[in-house]
Amino acid sequence: MNTALIRKRLVIGNWKMHGTRATNATLLTGLCAGVAVVHDCDLAVCAPFPYLGQVSACLHGSGISWGAQDVSKHEQGAFTGEVSPAMLNDFGCQWALVGHSERRAFHGESDQLVAEKAAAALKAGITPVVCVGETRAEQEAGLTTEVISRQLAPVLALGAESLAKMVLAYEPVWAIGTGLTATPQQAQDVHAFIRSQLSGLGVPQVRVLYGGSVKASNALSLFAMSDIDGALVGGASLVAEEFLRIAAA
Ligand code: PEP
Repeated sequence: MNTALIRKRLVIGNWKMHGTRATNATLLTGLCAGVAVVHDCDLAVCAPFPYLGQVSACLHGSGISWGAQDVSKHEQGAFTGEVSPAMLNDFGCQWALVGHSERRAFHGESDQLVAEKAAAALKAGITPVVCVGETRAEQEAGLTTEVISRQLAPVLALGAESLAKMVLAYEPVWAIGTGLTATPQQAQDVHAFIRSQLSGLGVPQVRVLYGGSVKASNALSLFAMSDIDGALVGGASLVAEEFLRIAAA
C-alpha cells in the first residue's frame, strides 16, 4: 500500500519563547478567522507553557489543535521547573515536541532522555513529535544518516506499537532559524532514509515532518516530496497569514 495516501498532512507551529498575552490574542484570532482556507491538513500550534490556558480557550472548537514545546519524563513529584504530561493533558494538549535541537544543544538533552520523554507523553495520551537533525559540521562531514540513526535508536527501541502513535520531525540544525532551507531533494533523501527505518519496523504510516526555515514560498516544493508529510514551523508560525498559507500550500 502507498502509505503517502493515508498520511494526512500535518503542519505544527513552534512559537518557541515568543509572545505575550496580547500578541498571542492577535495571532490566535487570525488563525481562527482564516483556518477555513486550510484543507486536508491537520493544523496545530505548540506554545510556551504559561500560555497554554489562553491557547486552549481561544482554539477550542476551531479545528486547530495545540501542544507544548517540551514535557517532563516524570509523572509528578519533586522536579522543580518541570511540566508533566498530565499537566499538559489538563490543558487539552494533543502534542508535545521532544528533542528539539535547541533543547538538545542548550539543555544537554540526550538521545535516551528524548526517548524517555516520548514514552512519558505517549503514556498520557499525548502525541510526541520527536525532532532529529544534524548540525552543519556533521552534514559537511557526511554524517547525516549516522547522526539521525543515533538519535532515533532509543526511540525506535520503544517498538512499533509506540512508534505508530508518534510523529517524527527532521530538522537539520543548520536550517533552523537561519533562513537556509534544505532543498526539497536534500530533505526527501533524509526523509526516505527515516521512512526506510520505520518501514523496517512495520510502521511506514508514521508522519515525518520537515522543519527548518519553512515559509509560504517554499512549502509547496517541500510538500511535493513523497516522504515529507508536513512541516514543523518556527518563525513563520508567528504570523497567522503566513502560517495559514504554509498549511494551505
Ligand atoms: C523550529 O523551531 O522547529 C524551526 C523549524 O524554526 P524555523 O522555522 O524558524 O527555522
